[in-house]
Amino acid sequence: MAFLELLFPDNDPITKILRRIANIAGRVGIEVYLVGGVIRDRILGYPTKDIDIMVIGNGIEFARQIAHSFRLKKVLEYPKFGTAMIPYHDIIIEVATARSEKYDSNSRKPRVSESDLMQDLARRDFTINALAMSLNNETLFQLMDYFEGLKDLDAGIIRTPLDPVKTFSEDPLRILRAIRFATRHGFKIEDKTFRAISRVKERMEIVSQERITDELIKILNVSNNPSRGFYLMKESGLLNIILPEIVVMDGVDQRNGFHHKDVFQHTLQVIDNVSRVSSKFELRFTALVHDIAKPLTKKYIDGKGWTFHGHEELGAKMIKQFCKRLKMSNKIMEYAMKLTRLHLRPIAIAVEGVTDSAVRRLIVEAGDDVEDLVKLCRADITSKNPRKITEYMNNFDRVVNRIVEVQKKDKLRAFQSPIRGDEIMMYCGLKPGPQVGYIKKAIEEAILQGEISNTYNNAKEYLEENKDRLLKESQEKFN
Ligand code: ATP
Repeated sequence: MAFLELLFPDNDPITKILRRIANIAGRVGIEVYLVGGVIRDRILGYPTKDIDIMVIGNGIEFARQIAHSFRLKKVLEYPKFGTAMIPYHDIIIEVATARSEKYDSNSRKPRVSESDLMQDLARRDFTINALAMSLNNETLFQLMDYFEGLKDLDAGIIRTPLDPVKTFSEDPLRILRAIRFATRHGFKIEDKTFRAISRVKERMEIVSQERITDELIKILNVSNNPSRGFYLMKESGLLNIILPEIVVMDGVDQRNGFHHKDVFQHTLQVIDNVSRVSSKFELRFTALVHDIAKPLTKKYIDGKGWTFHGHEELGAKMIKQFCKRLKMSNKIMEYAMKLTRLHLRPIAIAVEGVTDSAVRRLIVEAGDDVEDLVKLCRADITSKNPRKITEYMNNFDRVVNRIVEVQKKDKLRAFQSPIRGDEIMMYCGLKPGPQVGYIKKAIEEAILQGEISNTYNNAKEYLEENKDRLLKESQEKFN
Protein backbone atom coordinates (compact mmCIF):
# COMPACT_ATOMS: atom_id res chain seq x y z
CA MET A 1 0.00 0.00 0.00
CA ALA A 2 2.63 2.49 1.08
CA PHE A 3 4.73 1.40 -1.89
CA LEU A 4 1.97 2.22 -4.40
CA GLU A 5 1.23 5.53 -2.71
CA LEU A 6 4.86 6.43 -3.29
CA LEU A 7 4.37 5.70 -6.99
CA PHE A 8 1.18 7.72 -7.14
CA PRO A 9 1.73 10.71 -4.86
CA ASP A 10 -1.29 12.88 -4.05
CA ASN A 11 -0.17 15.94 -6.00
CA ASP A 12 0.51 13.97 -9.20
CA PRO A 13 -1.99 14.81 -11.99
CA ILE A 14 -2.36 11.12 -12.91
CA THR A 15 -3.19 10.26 -9.27
CA LYS A 16 -5.86 12.96 -9.32
CA ILE A 17 -7.43 11.39 -12.42
CA LEU A 18 -7.29 7.93 -10.83
CA ARG A 19 -8.98 9.18 -7.62
CA ARG A 20 -11.74 10.78 -9.67
CA ILE A 21 -12.28 7.52 -11.56
CA ALA A 22 -12.32 5.60 -8.26
CA ASN A 23 -15.00 7.99 -6.94
CA ILE A 24 -17.18 7.44 -10.00
CA ALA A 25 -16.75 3.66 -9.63
CA GLY A 26 -17.81 3.90 -5.97
CA ARG A 27 -20.82 6.01 -6.86
CA VAL A 28 -22.09 3.67 -9.59
CA GLY A 29 -21.06 0.57 -7.65
CA ILE A 30 -18.79 -1.08 -10.20
CA GLU A 31 -15.42 -2.82 -9.75
CA VAL A 32 -12.53 -1.15 -11.64
CA TYR A 33 -8.73 -1.48 -11.80
CA LEU A 34 -5.76 0.33 -13.24
CA VAL A 35 -3.93 -2.15 -15.51
CA GLY A 36 -1.35 -2.33 -18.31
CA GLY A 37 1.99 -0.66 -18.73
CA VAL A 38 1.37 2.29 -16.37
CA ILE A 39 2.18 0.36 -13.20
CA ARG A 40 5.25 -1.26 -14.80
CA ASP A 41 6.48 2.09 -16.09
CA ARG A 42 5.90 3.90 -12.78
CA ILE A 43 7.94 1.27 -10.95
CA LEU A 44 10.73 1.54 -13.51
CA GLY A 45 10.62 5.34 -13.41
CA TYR A 46 9.22 6.04 -16.87
CA PRO A 47 6.63 8.79 -17.41
CA THR A 48 2.98 7.81 -17.81
CA LYS A 49 1.73 7.96 -21.39
CA ASP A 50 -1.78 6.55 -21.24
CA ILE A 51 -4.09 5.13 -18.59
CA ASP A 52 -5.67 1.68 -19.02
CA ILE A 53 -8.75 1.05 -16.90
CA MET A 54 -10.29 -2.40 -16.62
CA VAL A 55 -13.93 -2.75 -15.62
CA ILE A 56 -15.59 -5.88 -14.27
CA GLY A 57 -18.79 -5.25 -16.21
CA ASN A 58 -19.69 -2.91 -19.03
CA GLY A 59 -16.55 -0.94 -19.96
CA ILE A 60 -18.22 1.26 -22.56
CA GLU A 61 -20.98 2.31 -20.17
CA PHE A 62 -18.37 3.16 -17.53
CA ALA A 63 -16.36 5.18 -20.10
CA ARG A 64 -19.50 7.26 -20.75
CA GLN A 65 -19.83 7.86 -17.02
CA ILE A 66 -16.22 9.04 -16.80
CA ALA A 67 -16.70 11.35 -19.79
CA HIS A 68 -19.90 12.76 -18.28
CA SER A 69 -18.27 13.41 -14.93
CA PHE A 70 -15.15 14.96 -16.54
CA ARG A 71 -17.46 17.03 -18.80
CA LEU A 72 -15.93 15.56 -21.95
CA LYS A 73 -17.88 15.13 -25.14
CA LYS A 74 -15.61 12.80 -27.05
CA VAL A 75 -15.71 9.06 -26.34
CA LEU A 76 -14.51 6.68 -29.05
CA GLU A 77 -16.41 3.45 -28.61
CA TYR A 78 -15.47 -0.01 -29.96
CA PRO A 79 -18.46 -2.23 -29.06
CA LYS A 80 -16.93 -5.27 -30.81
CA PHE A 81 -14.05 -5.25 -28.29
CA GLY A 82 -15.93 -3.82 -25.32
CA THR A 83 -13.49 -0.90 -25.16
CA ALA A 84 -13.63 2.88 -25.33
CA MET A 85 -11.06 5.66 -25.52
CA ILE A 86 -11.36 9.07 -23.94
CA PRO A 87 -8.83 11.72 -24.99
CA TYR A 88 -8.14 13.87 -21.94
CA HIS A 89 -5.61 16.71 -22.22
CA ASP A 90 -2.43 15.06 -23.51
CA ILE A 91 -3.26 11.51 -22.45
CA ILE A 92 -5.75 8.85 -23.45
CA ILE A 93 -7.89 7.05 -20.90
CA GLU A 94 -8.66 3.62 -22.30
CA VAL A 95 -11.48 1.76 -20.65
CA ALA A 96 -12.02 -1.96 -21.30
CA THR A 97 -14.40 -4.65 -20.14
CA ALA A 98 -12.49 -7.43 -18.35
CA ARG A 99 -12.30 -10.27 -20.85
CA SER A 100 -10.99 -13.70 -21.64
CA GLU A 101 -9.89 -14.69 -25.11
CA LYS A 102 -10.18 -17.72 -27.40
CA TYR A 103 -8.04 -18.07 -30.52
CA ASP A 104 -8.43 -19.85 -33.85
CA SER A 105 -5.20 -21.29 -35.19
CA ASN A 106 -5.09 -19.10 -38.31
CA SER A 107 -5.58 -15.72 -36.66
CA ARG A 108 -4.08 -13.67 -33.84
CA LYS A 109 -7.41 -11.92 -33.36
CA PRO A 110 -9.29 -13.58 -30.53
CA ARG A 111 -12.97 -14.14 -29.84
CA VAL A 112 -13.60 -12.41 -26.52
CA SER A 113 -16.04 -12.89 -23.69
CA GLU A 114 -16.59 -11.03 -20.42
CA SER A 115 -14.57 -12.31 -17.49
CA ASP A 116 -13.23 -11.45 -14.05
CA LEU A 117 -10.02 -9.75 -12.93
CA MET A 118 -7.96 -12.93 -12.68
CA GLN A 119 -8.86 -14.18 -16.17
CA ASP A 120 -8.23 -10.81 -17.72
CA LEU A 121 -4.76 -10.59 -16.15
CA ALA A 122 -3.97 -14.18 -17.15
CA ARG A 123 -4.54 -13.43 -20.87
CA ARG A 124 -1.87 -10.72 -20.79
CA ASP A 125 1.49 -11.22 -22.40
CA PHE A 126 4.01 -10.93 -19.55
CA THR A 127 3.91 -11.00 -15.78
CA ILE A 128 5.34 -7.48 -15.66
CA ASN A 129 2.33 -6.36 -17.73
CA ALA A 130 -0.19 -8.37 -15.68
CA LEU A 131 -0.19 -6.15 -12.61
CA ALA A 132 -3.38 -4.39 -11.55
CA MET A 133 -4.08 -1.70 -8.99
CA SER A 134 -7.47 -1.46 -7.31
CA LEU A 135 -9.55 1.67 -7.80
CA ASN A 136 -12.23 0.40 -5.41
CA ASN A 137 -13.04 2.02 -2.08
CA GLU A 138 -12.02 -0.63 0.44
CA THR A 139 -8.89 -1.71 -1.42
CA LEU A 140 -7.98 1.60 -3.02
CA PHE A 141 -4.44 1.54 -4.53
CA GLN A 142 -3.81 -2.08 -3.54
CA LEU A 143 -1.67 -4.08 -5.92
CA MET A 144 -3.14 -7.24 -7.47
CA ASP A 145 -0.18 -9.38 -8.44
CA TYR A 146 -1.36 -12.92 -9.22
CA PHE A 147 1.65 -13.88 -11.35
CA GLU A 148 4.58 -12.43 -9.35
CA GLY A 149 5.02 -9.57 -11.76
CA LEU A 150 6.59 -7.39 -9.08
CA LYS A 151 9.26 -10.00 -8.39
CA ASP A 152 10.01 -10.28 -12.11
CA LEU A 153 10.20 -6.50 -12.45
CA ASP A 154 12.65 -6.43 -9.58
CA ALA A 155 14.77 -9.25 -10.99
CA GLY A 156 14.54 -7.94 -14.57
CA ILE A 157 12.78 -10.94 -16.06
CA ILE A 158 10.36 -11.33 -18.97
CA ARG A 159 8.05 -14.30 -18.40
CA THR A 160 4.56 -15.20 -19.56
CA PRO A 161 1.86 -15.66 -16.89
CA LEU A 162 0.69 -18.95 -18.47
CA ASP A 163 2.34 -21.59 -20.68
CA PRO A 164 4.67 -19.62 -23.00
CA VAL A 165 4.24 -21.96 -25.97
CA LYS A 166 0.48 -21.43 -25.89
CA THR A 167 0.83 -17.70 -25.22
CA PHE A 168 3.19 -17.18 -28.17
CA SER A 169 1.44 -19.44 -30.63
CA GLU A 170 -1.94 -17.82 -29.95
CA ASP A 171 -0.56 -14.37 -30.67
CA PRO A 172 2.99 -14.55 -32.07
CA LEU A 173 3.31 -10.76 -32.01
CA ARG A 174 4.01 -11.31 -28.31
CA ILE A 175 7.38 -12.78 -29.34
CA LEU A 176 8.47 -9.42 -30.66
CA ARG A 177 6.95 -7.67 -27.67
CA ALA A 178 9.09 -9.90 -25.40
CA ILE A 179 12.18 -8.89 -27.32
CA ARG A 180 11.16 -5.25 -27.24
CA PHE A 181 10.66 -5.20 -23.47
CA ALA A 182 13.94 -7.10 -22.94
CA THR A 183 15.72 -4.51 -25.10
CA ARG A 184 14.04 -1.51 -23.53
CA HIS A 185 14.77 -2.47 -19.94
CA GLY A 186 17.87 -4.63 -20.42
CA PHE A 187 15.82 -7.54 -19.01
CA LYS A 188 16.48 -11.25 -19.46
CA ILE A 189 13.87 -13.44 -21.13
CA GLU A 190 13.37 -16.35 -18.73
CA ASP A 191 14.75 -19.65 -20.16
CA LYS A 192 11.44 -21.47 -20.62
CA THR A 193 9.91 -18.41 -22.24
CA PHE A 194 12.93 -18.02 -24.52
CA ARG A 195 12.86 -21.69 -25.55
CA ALA A 196 9.18 -21.25 -26.41
CA ILE A 197 10.11 -18.41 -28.78
CA SER A 198 12.45 -20.76 -30.65
CA ARG A 199 9.75 -23.43 -30.76
CA VAL A 200 6.90 -21.37 -32.12
CA LYS A 201 8.75 -18.74 -34.17
CA GLU A 202 7.30 -20.10 -37.47
CA ARG A 203 3.89 -18.91 -36.23
CA MET A 204 5.05 -15.37 -37.11
CA GLU A 205 3.53 -16.08 -40.52
CA ILE A 206 0.08 -15.21 -39.16
CA VAL A 207 1.23 -11.72 -38.15
CA SER A 208 0.89 -8.94 -40.73
CA GLN A 209 4.06 -7.27 -42.03
CA GLU A 210 2.81 -3.89 -40.75
CA ARG A 211 2.68 -5.15 -37.17
CA ILE A 212 6.10 -6.81 -37.45
CA THR A 213 7.64 -3.66 -38.88
CA ASP A 214 5.99 -1.58 -36.19
CA GLU A 215 7.66 -3.70 -33.49
CA LEU A 216 11.04 -3.63 -35.30
CA ILE A 217 10.84 0.16 -35.34
CA LYS A 218 10.14 0.15 -31.61
CA ILE A 219 13.05 -2.24 -30.94
CA LEU A 220 15.36 0.20 -32.71
CA ASN A 221 13.87 3.15 -30.82
CA VAL A 222 13.31 1.99 -27.24
CA SER A 223 16.87 2.02 -26.00
CA ASN A 224 20.36 3.23 -26.80
CA ASN A 225 21.40 -0.38 -27.03
CA PRO A 226 19.16 -1.86 -29.76
CA SER A 227 21.74 -4.56 -30.58
CA ARG A 228 20.38 -6.52 -27.63
CA GLY A 229 17.09 -7.07 -29.46
CA PHE A 230 18.86 -8.19 -32.62
CA TYR A 231 21.08 -10.66 -30.74
CA LEU A 232 17.96 -12.09 -29.08
CA MET A 233 16.25 -12.41 -32.47
CA LYS A 234 19.34 -14.08 -33.89
CA GLU A 235 19.79 -16.47 -30.98
CA SER A 236 16.15 -17.58 -31.03
CA GLY A 237 16.15 -18.13 -34.80
CA LEU A 238 13.54 -15.42 -35.27
CA LEU A 239 15.87 -13.29 -37.39
CA ASN A 240 15.94 -16.01 -40.09
CA ILE A 241 12.21 -15.67 -40.39
CA ILE A 242 11.57 -11.98 -40.19
CA LEU A 243 14.85 -10.49 -41.43
CA PRO A 244 16.57 -12.97 -43.76
CA GLU A 245 18.33 -10.02 -45.48
CA ILE A 246 20.13 -9.24 -42.24
CA VAL A 247 20.88 -12.73 -40.99
CA VAL A 248 23.08 -13.47 -44.03
CA MET A 249 25.59 -10.99 -42.63
CA ASP A 250 26.30 -13.41 -39.81
CA GLY A 251 29.68 -15.09 -40.21
CA VAL A 252 30.74 -12.89 -43.14
CA ASP A 253 34.38 -12.24 -42.29
CA GLN A 254 35.67 -8.74 -42.94
CA ARG A 255 38.85 -8.42 -40.96
CA ASN A 256 40.96 -5.58 -42.29
CA GLY A 257 42.05 -2.13 -41.19
CA PHE A 258 38.62 -0.76 -40.40
CA HIS A 259 36.66 -3.66 -38.97
CA HIS A 260 37.63 -6.55 -36.78
CA LYS A 261 34.24 -8.20 -36.43
CA ASP A 262 32.07 -10.13 -38.86
CA VAL A 263 29.53 -8.05 -40.78
CA PHE A 264 26.63 -8.90 -38.46
CA GLN A 265 28.46 -8.04 -35.24
CA HIS A 266 29.92 -4.95 -36.87
CA THR A 267 26.45 -3.81 -38.00
CA LEU A 268 25.02 -4.20 -34.50
CA GLN A 269 27.93 -2.26 -33.06
CA VAL A 270 27.29 0.53 -35.57
CA ILE A 271 23.60 0.63 -34.56
CA ASP A 272 24.57 1.01 -30.90
CA ASN A 273 27.24 3.61 -31.69
CA VAL A 274 24.77 5.68 -33.68
CA SER A 275 22.04 5.25 -31.05
CA ARG A 276 24.31 6.74 -28.41
CA VAL A 277 24.52 9.99 -30.36
CA SER A 278 21.11 10.13 -32.03
CA SER A 279 17.56 9.10 -31.31
CA LYS A 280 16.58 9.54 -34.96
CA PHE A 281 14.94 6.35 -36.15
CA GLU A 282 15.95 6.84 -39.78
CA LEU A 283 19.61 6.96 -38.83
CA ARG A 284 19.40 3.86 -36.62
CA PHE A 285 17.65 2.02 -39.43
CA THR A 286 20.34 3.09 -41.90
CA ALA A 287 22.98 1.72 -39.55
CA LEU A 288 21.14 -1.61 -39.74
CA VAL A 289 21.19 -1.72 -43.53
CA HIS A 290 24.28 0.23 -44.60
CA ASP A 291 26.33 -2.95 -45.20
CA ILE A 292 23.43 -5.06 -46.47
CA ALA A 293 25.26 -5.82 -49.75
CA LYS A 294 28.51 -6.94 -48.17
CA PRO A 295 27.69 -10.65 -48.26
CA LEU A 296 27.04 -10.42 -52.02
CA THR A 297 30.07 -8.29 -52.92
CA LYS A 298 32.63 -10.06 -50.78
CA LYS A 299 35.92 -10.98 -52.51
CA TYR A 300 39.31 -12.00 -51.16
CA ILE A 301 42.24 -10.24 -52.76
CA ASP A 302 45.78 -11.39 -51.93
CA GLY A 303 47.70 -8.82 -49.99
CA LYS A 304 44.55 -6.74 -49.42
CA GLY A 305 42.29 -9.12 -47.54
CA TRP A 306 38.51 -9.06 -47.85
CA THR A 307 37.03 -6.45 -50.17
CA PHE A 308 33.40 -5.44 -50.76
CA HIS A 309 33.72 -3.45 -53.93
CA GLY A 310 30.53 -1.58 -54.86
CA HIS A 311 28.61 -2.61 -51.75
CA GLU A 312 27.40 0.93 -51.24
CA GLU A 313 25.73 1.12 -54.68
CA LEU A 314 24.33 -2.39 -54.63
CA GLY A 315 23.31 -1.81 -51.00
CA ALA A 316 21.19 1.17 -52.00
CA LYS A 317 19.36 -1.01 -54.55
CA MET A 318 18.83 -3.78 -52.03
CA ILE A 319 17.51 -1.30 -49.47
CA LYS A 320 14.81 -0.29 -51.92
CA GLN A 321 13.56 -3.89 -52.12
CA PHE A 322 13.99 -4.40 -48.38
CA CYS A 323 12.00 -1.27 -47.47
CA LYS A 324 9.24 -2.22 -49.88
CA ARG A 325 8.97 -5.65 -48.29
CA LEU A 326 8.90 -4.13 -44.80
CA LYS A 327 6.32 -1.58 -45.96
CA MET A 328 8.49 1.28 -44.77
CA SER A 329 7.67 4.79 -45.94
CA ASN A 330 9.36 6.19 -49.05
CA LYS A 331 10.90 8.90 -46.92
CA ILE A 332 12.80 6.40 -44.79
CA MET A 333 13.71 4.36 -47.85
CA GLU A 334 15.19 7.32 -49.71
CA TYR A 335 17.11 8.52 -46.67
CA ALA A 336 18.63 5.08 -46.05
CA MET A 337 19.49 4.66 -49.72
CA LYS A 338 21.18 8.05 -49.89
CA LEU A 339 23.27 7.62 -46.76
CA THR A 340 24.26 4.08 -47.74
CA ARG A 341 25.34 5.24 -51.18
CA LEU A 342 27.46 7.98 -49.59
CA HIS A 343 28.78 6.22 -46.51
CA LEU A 344 32.29 5.62 -47.87
CA ARG A 345 32.66 9.09 -49.30
CA PRO A 346 33.93 11.05 -46.25
CA ILE A 347 36.69 8.55 -45.56
CA ALA A 348 37.64 8.50 -49.26
CA ILE A 349 37.85 12.28 -49.25
CA ALA A 350 40.02 12.17 -46.14
CA VAL A 351 42.39 9.62 -47.64
CA GLU A 352 42.58 11.05 -51.15
CA GLY A 353 42.90 14.67 -50.08
CA VAL A 354 40.26 17.11 -49.02
CA THR A 355 39.61 19.24 -52.09
CA ASP A 356 36.90 21.90 -52.15
CA SER A 357 35.16 20.34 -55.12
CA ALA A 358 34.98 16.88 -53.49
CA VAL A 359 33.57 18.42 -50.31
CA ARG A 360 31.09 20.51 -52.31
CA ARG A 361 29.85 17.48 -54.17
CA LEU A 362 29.32 15.63 -50.89
CA ILE A 363 27.39 18.54 -49.37
CA VAL A 364 25.16 18.78 -52.42
CA GLU A 365 24.49 15.05 -52.61
CA ALA A 366 23.85 14.64 -48.89
CA GLY A 367 21.82 17.86 -48.64
CA ASP A 368 20.29 18.38 -45.22
CA ASP A 369 21.50 14.97 -44.07
CA VAL A 370 25.21 15.72 -44.23
CA GLU A 371 25.55 15.81 -40.41
CA ASP A 372 23.75 12.47 -40.11
CA LEU A 373 26.11 11.03 -42.71
CA VAL A 374 29.10 12.05 -40.64
CA LYS A 375 27.49 10.51 -37.52
CA LEU A 376 27.03 7.27 -39.43
CA CYS A 377 30.63 7.31 -40.65
CA ARG A 378 32.01 7.86 -37.16
CA ALA A 379 29.79 5.10 -35.81
CA ASP A 380 31.09 2.86 -38.59
CA ILE A 381 34.56 2.79 -37.03
CA THR A 382 34.42 -0.33 -34.87
CA SER A 383 38.15 -1.06 -34.77
CA LYS A 384 39.53 -2.04 -31.36
CA ASN A 385 42.92 -0.52 -32.09
CA PRO A 386 43.05 2.87 -30.30
CA ARG A 387 45.76 4.19 -32.62
CA LYS A 388 43.63 3.46 -35.68
CA ILE A 389 40.50 4.90 -34.09
CA THR A 390 42.31 8.16 -33.37
CA GLU A 391 43.68 8.28 -36.90
CA TYR A 392 40.25 7.70 -38.51
CA MET A 393 38.48 10.14 -36.21
CA ASN A 394 41.09 12.81 -36.98
CA ASN A 395 40.49 12.21 -40.67
CA PHE A 396 36.77 12.76 -40.13
CA ASP A 397 37.44 15.91 -38.15
CA ARG A 398 39.38 17.27 -41.10
CA VAL A 399 36.54 16.48 -43.49
CA VAL A 400 33.94 17.94 -41.11
CA ASN A 401 35.94 21.15 -40.69
CA ARG A 402 36.11 21.51 -44.44
CA ILE A 403 32.40 20.81 -44.78
CA VAL A 404 31.67 23.64 -42.36
CA GLU A 405 34.07 25.98 -44.16
CA VAL A 406 32.68 25.22 -47.61
CA GLN A 407 29.09 25.42 -46.36
CA LYS A 408 29.77 28.85 -44.91
CA LYS A 409 31.50 30.01 -48.03
CA ASP A 410 29.02 28.64 -50.55
CA LYS A 411 25.71 28.44 -48.68
CA LEU A 412 25.24 25.18 -50.52
CA ARG A 413 22.65 23.43 -48.39
CA ALA A 414 19.66 23.86 -50.65
CA PHE A 415 21.78 23.83 -53.71
CA GLN A 416 20.52 24.32 -57.23
CA SER A 417 21.57 26.56 -60.05
CA PRO A 418 20.99 30.22 -59.07
CA ILE A 419 19.59 30.63 -62.61
CA ARG A 420 16.22 28.91 -62.91
CA GLY A 421 14.89 26.93 -65.87
CA ASP A 422 12.51 29.64 -67.17
CA GLU A 423 15.29 32.17 -67.31
CA ILE A 424 17.51 29.75 -69.23
CA MET A 425 14.63 29.16 -71.68
CA MET A 426 14.08 32.86 -72.17
CA TYR A 427 17.73 33.74 -72.55
CA CYS A 428 18.51 30.83 -74.91
CA GLY A 429 15.21 30.87 -76.78
CA LEU A 430 14.38 27.30 -75.76
CA LYS A 431 11.09 25.49 -75.10
CA PRO A 432 10.76 23.25 -72.03
CA GLY A 433 12.76 20.07 -72.63
CA PRO A 434 15.98 18.23 -71.87
CA GLN A 435 18.20 20.95 -73.35
CA VAL A 436 17.19 23.28 -70.52
CA GLY A 437 18.15 20.61 -67.95
CA TYR A 438 21.49 20.11 -69.68
CA ILE A 439 22.38 23.78 -69.48
CA LYS A 440 21.22 24.05 -65.87
CA LYS A 441 23.36 21.05 -64.96
CA ALA A 442 26.37 22.62 -66.70
CA ILE A 443 25.97 25.75 -64.53
CA GLU A 444 25.70 23.63 -61.38
CA GLU A 445 28.74 21.64 -62.43
CA ALA A 446 30.79 24.83 -62.90
CA ILE A 447 29.86 25.88 -59.35
CA LEU A 448 30.72 22.46 -57.93
CA GLN A 449 34.07 22.44 -59.71
CA GLY A 450 34.82 25.81 -58.15
CA GLU A 451 35.08 27.53 -61.58
CA ILE A 452 32.53 30.12 -60.51
CA SER A 453 31.00 30.97 -57.13
CA ASN A 454 27.44 30.14 -56.14
CA THR A 455 25.89 33.52 -56.94
CA TYR A 456 23.29 34.71 -59.44
CA ASN A 457 25.64 37.20 -61.12
CA ASN A 458 28.44 34.71 -61.61
CA ALA A 459 26.05 32.09 -62.96
CA LYS A 460 24.53 34.62 -65.36
CA GLU A 461 27.95 35.68 -66.59
CA TYR A 462 28.91 32.04 -67.07
CA LEU A 463 25.75 31.44 -69.10
CA GLU A 464 26.38 34.47 -71.28
CA GLU A 465 29.96 33.40 -72.00
CA ASN A 466 29.10 29.76 -72.67
CA LYS A 467 25.67 30.08 -74.24
CA ASP A 468 26.68 29.12 -77.78
CA ARG A 469 28.75 26.14 -76.73
CA LEU A 470 26.10 24.83 -74.37
CA LEU A 471 23.35 25.23 -76.94
CA LYS A 472 25.40 23.36 -79.53
CA GLU A 473 26.32 20.56 -77.16
CA SER A 474 22.78 20.11 -75.91
CA GLN A 475 21.38 20.20 -79.42
CA GLU A 476 23.76 17.46 -80.54
CA LYS A 477 22.86 15.41 -77.52
CA PHE A 478 19.08 15.63 -77.71
CA ASN A 479 18.18 16.25 -81.36
P1 ATP B 1 3.79 0.32 -24.45
O1 ATP B 1 2.72 1.37 -24.47
O2 ATP B 1 5.13 0.80 -24.10
O3 ATP B 1 3.76 -0.57 -25.66
P2 ATP B 1 2.07 -1.22 -22.76
O4 ATP B 1 2.39 -2.38 -21.89
O5 ATP B 1 1.22 -0.13 -22.17
O6 ATP B 1 3.45 -0.67 -23.23
P3 ATP B 1 0.07 -1.59 -24.77
O7 ATP B 1 0.28 -2.11 -26.14
O8 ATP B 1 -0.49 -0.24 -24.57
O9 ATP B 1 1.44 -1.79 -24.04
O10 ATP B 1 -0.86 -2.63 -24.03
C1 ATP B 1 -1.43 -2.43 -22.74
C2 ATP B 1 -1.46 -3.76 -22.00
O11 ATP B 1 -2.24 -4.72 -22.73
C3 ATP B 1 -0.10 -4.41 -21.83
O12 ATP B 1 0.54 -3.94 -20.68
C4 ATP B 1 -0.47 -5.86 -21.72
O13 ATP B 1 -0.94 -6.16 -20.43
C5 ATP B 1 -1.64 -6.00 -22.65
N1 ATP B 1 -1.26 -6.40 -24.02
C6 ATP B 1 -0.98 -5.60 -25.07
N2 ATP B 1 -0.73 -6.32 -26.18
C7 ATP B 1 -0.89 -7.60 -25.83
C8 ATP B 1 -0.79 -8.83 -26.53
N3 ATP B 1 -0.46 -8.88 -27.81
N4 ATP B 1 -1.03 -9.96 -25.83
C9 ATP B 1 -1.36 -9.93 -24.54
N5 ATP B 1 -1.46 -8.82 -23.82
C10 ATP B 1 -1.24 -7.65 -24.45
